[in-house]
Amino acid sequence: MEAWQLAWINDSKGVALGLLMNRKICGFYKDEDDDWVAMLACHHGQHVRNNPPFTNRPWVESAEGRAEKLGVELNCVRCDRFEFPDGLALYKQTPEFSESSIPAGLLRDHSTKTGTWGLIKVREGQLHYTAGDHQQVVDESEAGVVVPNMLHSVAPVAQVRFCVEFYRKEEV
Ligand SMILES: [Zn+2]
Repeated sequence: MEAWQLAWINDSKGVALGLLMNRKICGFYKDEDDDWVAMLACHHGQHVRNNPPFTNRPWVESAEGRAEKLGVELNCVRCDRFEFPDGLALYKQTPEFSESSIPAGLLRDHSTKTGTWGLIKVREGQLHYTAGDHQQVVDESEAGVVVPNMLHSVAPVAQVRFCVEFYRKEEV
């Protein structure tokens, strides 16, 4: 395990949110303010401004410089915060599970592949959701966000009915 994977981050309340997630750069685009943004494999964007003397990234101004950075990893703070990205499409959904029909695989640590996000939707009851140091009781009011490549598991609190939706980038 790399050093960055062992680092833990804290939010302003001092609650550990989880492992730092590093993501590969898979492309670049300019935002509405004409600033460069790196598109990461998780489908989050991250600004890579060249704004000397504060931020020096002269490489971002040339196509060759940007091409050299493809595949380089950046820490994605939005993954660290369990932020569900914009512009994803639902492509698969599990059947509805109950406390007695949860597949054993969901009770153990498992993860989705790169670029695949999930939403744990509880229709009735409550479900414990654990991902790294992130602990959440998911109920009807708010879905649990499943971050790509992050180990997670669920456990029923009592009676529960839920399903998991899977999202990825829409093909263009
Ligand atoms: Zn991300």
